[in-house]
Parts: sequence; structure tokens; C-alpha cells
Amino acid sequence: MPYTLPELPFAYDALEPHYDEQTLRIHHGKHHQAYVDGLNKAEAQLAEAREKGDFGLIKHWSRELAFNGSGHILHSLFWENLSPAGGNPGAELLQQLKKDFGSQDAFQKQFSSAAAAVEGSGWAALCWVPSLNKLEILQVEKHQDLTLWGAAPILILDVWEHAYYLKYQNRRADFISAWWNIVNWEVANQRFLKAIR
Ligand code: FE
Repeated sequence: MPYTLPELPFAYDALEPHYDEQTLRIHHGKHHQAYVDGLNKAEAQLAEAREKGDFGLIKHWSRELAFNGSGHILHSLFWENLSPAGGNPGAELLQQLKKDFGSQDAFQKQFSSAAAAVEGSGWAALCWVPSLNKLEILQVEKHQDLTLWGAAPILILDVWEHAYYLKYQNRRADFISAWWNIVNWEVANQRFLKAIR
């Protein structure tokens, strides 16, 4: 089960002079490795919590899972997004960039501006949003905001107070217990099959 650091698809010095060898070695070998280690630790701690039935630290390990898991996923995507040869968007992507941003130049200006203006540590990301049927440029603070990138929702539970307060007031746990009785597993299964296709 443990996740491992993916190998770079190019040599450490292959991106010189745009991206220097020393930075890349530390970024990949130290920083990305730390996210892989953190993800494995969170998974192990969560497994132990399930075994013991002790979820006292669930908030901490859920945060660690989201932070390190997203860090691992985004870095893996990032390395694959780099190439010594550079290049241009393929025909399909270019067509969509023009449709959604007007031109490749306008897209790159917006992307660069978004990246430069990220508050604190984070990312800029061009994303396909199936629900909106378009490309969007997102700013990402840290790695996660408590989600995992690319995760397709299979089963979700609203725990805003507006979802349960009239009946359960401050007893959210009671609402959660009751909710398990009304889960549509058939829909969850359909979503799962679609997501893994
Ligand atoms: Fe990084």
C-alpha cells in the first residue's frame, strides 16, 4: 500500500537553464518525498484508528491526509507537465483554450497573473470542470483546502447546521447515525462505476 516517490521523466539537469538542477533535486527528492511520507503516515494512522475504534485524532489525520495527499498528487502532475523540449498545445486543447479564454495568449496571461497572485503558498491550475463543461484557471492555496485533487464524489454528506439543526440541534452525531439509514447506495455504486471507467 505505501505510496512511493515517482521518478522524474527526465534528468535532473534536463530543464536547465529554465529550471536549475539544484532546485529540482531538492524539490523532488526532499519536498515531494516529504509529502509521500506524510501521506503514508496519515493512511497508517487512520488504519490504526479504525482498528482500535479510537477516532480521537480524526481531525488531525484527516487534515494530514488532505495536505500530504494533495501535495503528492499535484507534484506528480507537475513533473509530468514539464518537458525539456517545451512545445505547444495539441489541436484539441488549443481549440478549447480559444473557446474558453479567447486565445492562447489570453489564457497564458490569465494563468500567469493567477499564479503570481496566489496568496502565500500554492498553485495555479488549469482544470477541466465537467460540471461546467469548460476549462477554468484556479488558484490553489496550500495543496488542498481539505479535498483531494481529481477526486470524484461518490457519496457525500452535508453537515452544515442548515442540514440538520431543526430536528437535531447540536446533536450532529445523531444526524449522521440516522443518515446511514437513508443512503442511496445504488446511486453511489453507479457513480463509482462511472468514476473508475
Ligand atoms: Fe512543490
